[in-house]
Amino acid sequence: MSRFWSDHLVDLTPYVAGEQPKVANLLKLNTNEHPYGPSPRALDAIKAAATERLRLYPDNESTALREAIAALHGLDAGQVFVGNGSDEVLAHIFNGLFRRSGRTLLMPDITYSFYRTYCTLYKIPVRLVPLADDFSIRARDYIDGRDAEPAGIIFSNPNAPTGIAMPLDDIRAIARANADVPVVVDEAYVDFGAESAIALLKEHDNIVVVHTLSKSRSLAGLRVGFAVAGSQIVEGLNRVKDSFNSYPVDSLAQAGALAAIQDTDYFEQTRQAVIDAREQLAQQLTTLGFQVLPSRANFVFARHPAHDGAALSRALRAQNILVRHFSLPRIDQFLRITVGTPDDCARLCNTLVKILTKTH
Ligand SMILES: *Cc1c(COP(=O)(O)O)cnc(C)c1O
Repeated sequence: MSRFWSDHLVDLTPYVAGEQPKVANLLKLNTNEHPYGPSPRALDAIKAAATERLRLYPDNESTALREAIAALHGLDAGQVFVGNGSDEVLAHIFNGLFRRSGRTLLMPDITYSFYRTYCTLYKIPVRLVPLADDFSIRARDYIDGRDAEPAGIIFSNPNAPTGIAMPLDDIRAIARANADVPVVVDEAYVDFGAESAIALLKEHDNIVVVHTLSKSRSLAGLRVGFAVAGSQIVEGLNRVKDSFNSYPVDSLAQAGALAAIQDTDYFEQTRQAVIDAREQLAQQLTTLGFQVLPSRANFVFARHPAHDGAALSRALRAQNILVRHFSLPRIDQFLRITVGTPDDCARLCNTLVKILTKTH
């Protein structure tokens, strides 16, 4: 609290990011970063862009990058909006699409926790819709369960932190039943094995799909994310952007992101390696007695029936392994574990074996 703050800061609960400590021999499985580096072509492009031309402002419309994203997904460049990480894109979505007088936003009770923060920041009333007992999102809650026209609907698919993916038919049904409000699908993890709702954009002009280069493109440090939607929605997002920061994506980021998007081979290879490691890790954790939710992401969400989640997280930390634990209702017994290389996963499982036998 400070007497210098704006009124609304008092009630704001900021998002808490996973920690990034600088400790030697640390195994970081807590923030869903990609275990393999970015495309070498992306690194080359960033180096090539580091010239005296940095004295100039970047292309404020990220034209080449938007065109490459549009080409990748069979869209028009006018349907693509890019920002400084998808968190910024999401902030503009909340600000530009969900602030509707007298209306309430619908989202799952368990999903990406940043959404709640944006609701308080932008004063958006929200109704949390409980996930089913198996932690899946129930489409009918957003169809029959509507009491009035909502301000919008948002969820991540695969959902965070559960990793569970939703069938495209369910998303289609939600979009159809809510044709006059934005239905935002945050696909931060979609490249690790879920179906993208981008396929539904032709039928439904209310769908907004958000992607990031932080996870499947291994560029969390570069801060690039994007949304694809109907051109009217993109025009609205551009209004917000140009009233906030006209140059959110710097020249180096535009160059690196463009090369990463174009390096299809590297992308396919590295995402498949993560998918394979995930399946192996899920299998190994199951063998150790964990209940592992079915994941389509680059992390698994798992609990051990005989061991407290917080205690396991602390015990792993003592062995220099970071995983994410959320002290939240319904999920406080779970660990969210980022999929690393096969070596990373082996180190995690070997350490877990020791912890589980010692504390039993
Ligand atoms: C990681 C993540 C983001 C944020 O990604 P950035 O592009 O790095 O800001 C958004 N949504 C979900 C669900 C995420 O897990």
